[in-house]
Amino acid sequence: MTPLLHKKLLPIAAACLILSSCGQTDAPTKQTTSNQNVTSPAEATALGDSNEAGQADGQLESSTPADSGAPSGNSSGSPGNAAEVDSNEEGSEAEVPPLLYHINKAYNVVPNVETVDKKVVLLTFDDGPKEKEMIDGLIDTLDKHQAKAIFFVNGYRVKAHPELLQLIQERGQIIGNHSWDHINLKKESAANMRKQIEDVQNIVEETIGEAPRFFRPPFGSGNETTHQIADDNDLIYMTWSNGSLDWDSKNKNKPEAVIANVLEQLHAGSNILMHELPWTVEALDELLTQLEQKGYGFVDPRSIGPAPVEAESGGTK
Ligand SMILES: [Zn+2]
Repeated sequence: MTPLLHKKLLPIAAACLILSSCGQTDAPTKQTTSNQNVTSPAEATALGDSNEAGQADGQLESSTPADSGAPSGNSSGSPGNAAEVDSNEEGSEAEVPPLLYHINKAYNVVPNVETVDKKVVLLTFDDGPKEKEMIDGLIDTLDKHQAKAIFFVNGYRVKAHPELLQLIQERGQIIGNHSWDHINLKKESAANMRKQIEDVQNIVEETIGEAPRFFRPPFGSGNETTHQIADDNDLIYMTWSNGSLDWDSKNKNKPEAVIANVLEQLHAGSNILMHELPWTVEALDELLTQLEQKGYGFVDPRSIGPAPVEAESGGTK
């Protein structure tokens, strides 16, 4: 019950600083400079070297999101808030939890009301689905810890392996939209950006019978248009607030580094970015054990809904 909330206010402050600097996805140097004020050394280091520049597919995302943070993204047009329970078709799991949490502007997961536990983390795995063995490995561990996660998938991978998407769904985990091609959406026209997002909504719905409720842009790179398109599709937009750096080449084959990176940035509401990678599969059991030992719970993504209007509109501008 001791809420270790000394960092409680940091995410919001950090978001403002990040947002002010993160119009420039393509300018890692600038980001590095400003992020040194607000992020952990691990994050700053990662930003300094390899991300964003010209990587091939998938792995490299900055540990701090490169989002320009248009604050539009929440209640998707409906004036009331918590009323939208649209997840009742989650066939495989009988119990659908109530919407108790939302994603705030710093992309932390926070309770809608004071009485709900705030010492929680959100687990996410990006860039799949790739291989049955890795997916099973992750979900075996999630099951062991009775945890749910969001698997942010790319459309081209779903098209190649629809059975893997079905596997994730059948094993009771949650699917998120991570764009079709894993490209920097901010460099695309609005029409292309929309296609990148909506094609994934469509293929996921065709494959498992329901469209994703969550969207995360590759590299955390989005703008107002990206937020608007997410809104149009009733998608809850997020980047992350705790980057495991499992995608960084210096952590390749180093599960202990992945664990250390997450623990170093750990705070209530951590939105933990991980990937479908072998060393992350290997790290997960120990990571979740340590999180539990520190008193953190794992948010069921199905309990995350749109942000209450008041909570998001009143604050920073
Ligand atoms: Zn990604």
